[in-house]
Amino acid sequence: MDKQNRKAIIAGNWKMNKTPTEAGFLLDDLIPQVEYANCEVVCCVPATDLAVAIAKCAGTNVHVGAQNVHFEKAGAYTGEISADMLADLGVEYVVVGHSERRQYFAETDETVNKRAKAALAAGLKPIICVGESLAQREQGVTEELVRMQVKIALGGVSAEQLKNVVIAYEPVWAIGTGRTATADQAQEVCAAIRKVVGELYGEDAARGLTVQYGGSMNAENAAELLAKPDVDGGLIGGASLKADQFAVIVDAATKG
Ligand code: PEP
Repeated sequence: MDKQNRKAIIAGNWKMNKTPTEAGFLLDDLIPQVEYANCEVVCCVPATDLAVAIAKCAGTNVHVGAQNVHFEKAGAYTGEISADMLADLGVEYVVVGHSERRQYFAETDETVNKRAKAALAAGLKPIICVGESLAQREQGVTEELVRMQVKIALGGVSAEQLKNVVIAYEPVWAIGTGRTATADQAQEVCAAIRKVVGELYGEDAARGLTVQYGGSMNAENAAELLAKPDVDGGLIGGASLKADQFAVIVDAATKG
């Protein structure tokens, strides 16, 4: 399966932005602008916006995602949200292991794996984020590091479950910095991700996997990044908060 046959997914990560009221306005603006998209469009919204997003997106081509999920099924985990709770609400995707969670909330490769498995068990599609820091890139360990992150994240994930996994290559130095990886850098690491998945699950599974790039993707640079053979979509932070910019990226994926 080559790029044309893989599912391109453009996912917005709203991070901690937009009240439920504001979320409603943003989706009202966005939905008509992406209704003819040829790729999957996802908005990963704050937990407090999930209900309004699910109501607004019902009957549209916009899918709703959460930004985190706890790995236990239920119990004394004050403040946490389980995969079953998200699935019951109608959530389809969930971002797992975003670098901001790794940096500020003590997320590790092991907890990323536990969250990914919990999400899959509940029928959610995890968008598993991996990527190197600037120091790691400068030390020349990007590929080893990303291979390790992918291997640990997918530990215990079956070949059948892999069909619901999305991997997002997000170099930490490019997130929210305005400094985008070059299209060649993005391609190189996305291809390395596909290669390690091939080693784990076989070539066919790897060819079917959606691998996104994320890190300051915007209306100006999206087309070049998304044209690369192993870049199947994007995880977009800042530019997903402006409907018209996000719609341009969706359009670029449609053509890419
Ligand atoms: C992100 O939050 O995953 C992200 C890529 O952010 P930004 O597009 O703002 O760099």
